[in-house]
Amino acid sequence: MAGTDEKKITRRGGNVDEDKVFQGLQKKQKCKLCEQDFLLEKLPGAISYKSVLKLRESWGLDVHYPAPALLYQRVQLCVFCSQFFEPKLGEEKSPSSPSKASHK
Ligand SMILES: [Zn+2]
Repeated sequence: MAGTDEKKITRRGGNVDEDKVFQGLQKKQKCKLCEQDFLLEKLPGAISYKSVLKLRESWGLDVHYPAPALLYQRVQLCVFCSQFFEPKLGEEKSPSSPSKASHK
Protein backbone atom coordinates (compact mmCIF):
# COMPACT_ATOMS: atom_id res chain seq x y z
CA MET A 1 0.00 0.00 0.00
CA ALA A 2 2.30 2.64 -1.21
CA GLY A 3 0.69 6.02 -1.51
CA THR A 4 2.52 7.08 -4.55
CA ASP A 5 0.81 9.05 -7.15
CA GLU A 6 0.78 7.23 -10.35
CA LYS A 7 0.48 9.65 -13.11
CA LYS A 8 0.93 8.20 -16.45
CA ILE A 9 2.32 10.77 -18.70
CA THR A 10 2.40 9.54 -22.18
CA ARG A 11 5.00 11.41 -24.04
CA ARG A 12 5.73 11.13 -27.61
CA GLY A 13 9.39 11.43 -28.17
CA GLY A 14 10.97 11.98 -31.47
CA ASN A 15 9.49 14.84 -33.34
CA VAL A 16 11.13 17.97 -32.05
CA ASP A 17 8.76 20.33 -33.77
CA GLU A 18 5.79 18.58 -32.29
CA ASP A 19 7.37 18.77 -28.89
CA LYS A 20 7.89 22.47 -29.25
CA VAL A 21 4.30 22.92 -30.17
CA PHE A 22 3.32 20.90 -27.15
CA GLN A 23 5.32 23.19 -24.94
CA GLY A 24 3.88 26.25 -26.53
CA LEU A 25 7.20 27.44 -27.84
CA GLN A 26 6.11 27.13 -31.39
CA LYS A 27 2.66 27.84 -32.49
CA LYS A 28 0.88 26.27 -35.30
CA GLN A 29 -1.66 28.06 -37.28
CA LYS A 30 -3.78 27.29 -40.25
CA CYS A 31 -3.19 28.87 -43.55
CA LYS A 32 -6.50 30.50 -44.22
CA LEU A 33 -6.56 29.55 -47.84
CA CYS A 34 -5.53 25.91 -48.01
CA GLU A 35 -6.34 25.25 -44.34
CA GLN A 36 -3.23 23.25 -43.66
CA ASP A 37 -1.44 23.55 -40.36
CA PHE A 38 1.90 25.26 -40.45
CA LEU A 39 4.35 26.49 -37.91
CA LEU A 40 4.07 30.23 -37.66
CA GLU A 41 7.50 30.70 -39.15
CA LYS A 42 6.26 28.91 -42.24
CA LEU A 43 3.47 31.39 -42.68
CA PRO A 44 5.10 34.45 -44.14
CA GLY A 45 2.00 35.92 -45.65
CA ALA A 46 -0.62 38.02 -43.97
CA ILE A 47 -3.58 39.40 -45.73
CA SER A 48 -7.09 40.47 -44.98
CA TYR A 49 -9.60 37.70 -44.69
CA LYS A 50 -11.68 39.42 -47.28
CA SER A 51 -9.03 38.95 -49.91
CA VAL A 52 -9.00 35.24 -49.19
CA LEU A 53 -12.73 35.02 -49.55
CA LYS A 54 -12.66 36.99 -52.75
CA LEU A 55 -10.15 34.63 -54.23
CA ARG A 56 -12.15 31.61 -53.21
CA GLU A 57 -15.18 33.18 -54.75
CA SER A 58 -13.32 33.72 -57.96
CA TRP A 59 -12.59 30.00 -57.95
CA GLY A 60 -16.28 29.31 -57.84
CA LEU A 61 -16.27 28.09 -54.25
CA ASP A 62 -19.06 28.59 -51.79
CA VAL A 63 -18.11 31.58 -49.72
CA HIS A 64 -19.79 32.68 -46.56
CA TYR A 65 -18.92 36.20 -45.60
CA PRO A 66 -18.60 36.74 -41.88
CA ALA A 67 -19.33 39.91 -39.99
CA PRO A 68 -17.58 42.94 -41.45
CA ALA A 69 -15.31 43.23 -38.45
CA LEU A 70 -13.92 39.81 -39.24
CA LEU A 71 -13.48 40.55 -42.89
CA TYR A 72 -10.60 42.87 -42.26
CA GLN A 73 -8.70 40.83 -39.75
CA ARG A 74 -5.34 39.73 -40.93
CA VAL A 75 -5.00 36.07 -41.61
CA GLN A 76 -1.96 33.94 -42.21
CA LEU A 77 -0.97 32.47 -45.51
CA CYS A 78 1.57 29.81 -46.29
CA VAL A 79 4.26 30.32 -48.87
CA PHE A 80 2.32 28.54 -51.51
CA CYS A 81 -0.90 30.43 -51.07
CA SER A 82 0.72 33.80 -50.69
CA GLN A 83 1.72 33.60 -54.33
CA PHE A 84 -1.90 34.09 -55.27
CA PHE A 85 -1.85 37.48 -53.68
CA GLU A 86 1.30 38.88 -55.13
CA PRO A 87 0.92 42.20 -56.80
CA LYS A 88 -0.54 41.57 -60.15
CA LEU A 89 2.29 42.72 -62.28
CA GLY A 90 1.62 43.57 -65.83
CA GLU A 91 -2.05 42.92 -65.65
CA GLU A 92 -3.19 46.40 -66.46
CA LYS A 93 -0.01 48.27 -67.06
CA SER A 94 1.89 46.13 -69.44
CA PRO A 95 5.48 47.30 -69.39
CA SER A 96 6.34 49.20 -72.50
CA SER A 97 6.86 46.33 -74.80
CA PRO A 98 6.82 47.02 -78.45
CA SER A 99 5.16 43.82 -79.48
CA LYS A 100 6.52 43.90 -82.97
CA ALA A 101 10.22 44.30 -82.60
CA SER A 102 11.39 41.23 -84.37
CA HIS A 103 14.19 41.98 -86.74
CA LYS A 104 14.54 39.04 -88.99
ZN1 LIG B 1 -1.90 27.75 -47.80
